[in-house]
Amino acid sequence: MLGAVVVGIGTAGQVRIRDISAPLLGSPAEKLNVKGFISRRSLDPQQGVSQISVDEAVSREDIQVAFICTENVSHEDNTRTFLQAGKHVCVEYPMTMNYKAAVEFWDLAQKKGLILHEEHIELLTEDYKVLKREVEGKTLLEGTLHFTGGALKPGFGFPTFSGIARLTWLIELFGELSVTAATVEEDLGSNYSKMTAKLLTSDNRPLTWIEERSPGLPRAKNINFHFDSCTLTQIPPAPRGNIGLFMQDLIHFSSKLAGHVSAEELQREKLRILRCLHLAEEIQNLCQS
Ligand code: NAD
Repeated sequence: MLGAVVVGIGTAGQVRIRDISAPLLGSPAEKLNVKGFISRRSLDPQQGVSQISVDEAVSREDIQVAFICTENVSHEDNTRTFLQAGKHVCVEYPMTMNYKAAVEFWDLAQKKGLILHEEHIELLTEDYKVLKREVEGKTLLEGTLHFTGGALKPGFGFPTFSGIARLTWLIELFGELSVTAATVEEDLGSNYSKMTAKLLTSDNRPLTWIEERSPGLPRAKNINFHFDSCTLTQIPPAPRGNIGLFMQDLIHFSSKLAGHVSAEELQREKLRILRCLHLAEEIQNLCQS
């Protein structure tokens, strides 16, 4: 059994405690046991789990795993703390809000023989799977992914990082991408923001990624993918899967802890994560230059 601590008791942290406490039977997630949670607030026990301090978590030998579920801006410090203490880390996306720290973390994890896992539930959704099947074998001529959603709370970072799930979709669907131009419009008074990135696929096909947020704006992914053979203007409807997305992610992370994921797959995931963070930073720099 591996003992775990959950850091950050927001929506994601609560789901982590719930899933670790009641894992899918027969899955490697059964090997995890939640020993405590960490919060900046002073809280009563949550789902039967008690609050502990960071110092206690890093020094306890029966805690080998940390789940980092805080707002994005705190991921970097928390991940560093637990990796340095020799704990395996599962961090909600994005791992960091800069490329350099992410490289440092992968090196540190490798040196210490630890699993470093970045949650990407967007790749586990039925929407993504059906879209991936639709795109497979087609040649993209040009496309747009326009995400809309409500305003974010403070601490979730620049739109390329808070929206890394959309960038990850694009990279997984269309392969290597580069950025040619990017802009951001922001109105702090009304909490409105719109980031537009002009991307190119490796065979020079234009792809536009838009992240637009405003209070009350419905959460939606609008697509317009123009292929040589057809045009996709909406994600084909797909029924929900039986296993929750965070549970699927927990099983994937636990499989890594159990050594059931091949070195090739671990490497592929690492390269994709680093590529996305690098591109997110490049787009941010273009927007701010
Ligand atoms: P959240 O806003 O619910 O919580 C974020 C942080 O705020 C946590 O550290 C939490 O402890 C703190 N917090 C929450 N309520 C608070 C309060 N009333 N007073 C003081 N602090 C409070 O955000 P979340 O949805 O849990 O997201 C956490 C991380 O998980 C983010 O990195 C996000 O990108 C990632 N994530 C979340 C989801 C999701 O569906 N919620 C999905 C994928 C990834």
